[in-house]
Amino acid sequence: MTMREKKFLYGAGGSAYQTEGGNVHNDWWAWEKATPGMEHSSKATDHYHRFREDFALAKSLGHTAHRLSIEWSRIQPAPNTWNQREIAHYRDVLTELRRLGLKSFVTLHHFTNPIWVSQQGGWENPHTPILFAEYTDKIANELGDLVDFWITLNEPVVYLNQVGWKGAWPPVAEKSPTPASLWKRTTRVLRMRSMFAQAHKLAYKIIHQHFPQAQVGIANVFTTTTTPLRKWWWNTMFFQATTGAHDFIGVNYYSPPHNKNPHNLRSDTGAPIYPEGLTEILLSLGSFQLPIYVTENGLADSQDKLRANFIRSHLRAVEVAQAQGAHVLGYLHWSLLDNFEWDLGFTPRYGLVEVNYQTLERKPRPSAYVYKAIIEQSQG
Ligand code: BGC
Repeated sequence: MTMREKKFLYGAGGSAYQTEGGNVHNDWWAWEKATPGMEHSSKATDHYHRFREDFALAKSLGHTAHRLSIEWSRIQPAPNTWNQREIAHYRDVLTELRRLGLKSFVTLHHFTNPIWVSQQGGWENPHTPILFAEYTDKIANELGDLVDFWITLNEPVVYLNQVGWKGAWPPVAEKSPTPASLWKRTTRVLRMRSMFAQAHKLAYKIIHQHFPQAQVGIANVFTTTTTPLRKWWWNTMFFQATTGAHDFIGVNYYSPPHNKNPHNLRSDTGAPIYPEGLTEILLSLGSFQLPIYVTENGLADSQDKLRANFIRSHLRAVEVAQAQGAHVLGYLHWSLLDNFEWDLGFTPRYGLVEVNYQTLERKPRPSAYVYKAIIEQSQG
């Protein structure tokens, strides 16, 4: 399929913690409060209450798909406690996407955990994959009829890096200023890797028990590095640990590890811009013989100076890969709205739509209309 074909999906994404606001039962919320100098996500963009307005905007901007995540800590705020009111909320959210004709990409884990899961050792605890499987089963049961694409885990390797290796994100293993020993960190990362792999495989199986035709995958951040070990770690390792449990490959791509751009173009966070890297990654995935969706691609650009060209050039990069046989079926820009950028707080502006954090007013940036024009042109 080429991008010119009608079924190619175009849209944007977001995640629960970054957009919804008020996620008081998860470990990021607790960590923000306990960490001096950390910005608090508080209301975030208040997407929890404004999802209808946000989806209407996405629709008006030509989108045909949308990626969001379900917040585990809302669904299960305490052990063995299912919050039916929150389940009903997500039914409303997914029903609204259906009503508007937007295909849903639903992530089950996007970096945050219920506090009680964290307190029991989080992803180091051998029981966590079972807990995640129970949560997945509940979601499949209650909401699965409204899900088009399942993303069990967002960027498990980033989590291993930030939480397991660096101890930079919650749950932080120890408060002491001395970094954990190399040995300790290595075993932590390896244990977490095994837990995530088990969790994904269990979730894959459970979702397929409910819906044999389900499309289930992960969103993995891919790198263009040429260092073999790093390349294996980021691009291949998790797929090797979960062979046979993917119906599609979700590609998150932002920037190359080194600046290869002759004009030295960089985002507000200093990330170099290199669309050719996306072609390279898409072409490298041929051996999976699976459909590919670009599940994240974007940049922080508060002045919206680079975003339109960024979108154009990366969509061109997708077309170049398609012309050489890459089976790419969709592109989801990151992100629909400006949102809470984890430990960087609200400063980086990734949105196609600008959010005024004082008034919570939404305003599409000019690049959002450029993207819209590309979508309309491509869909005839
Ligand atoms: C994450 C997003 C984040 C984006 C931009 C991705 O790694 O999945 O949550 O906002 O990067 O930094």
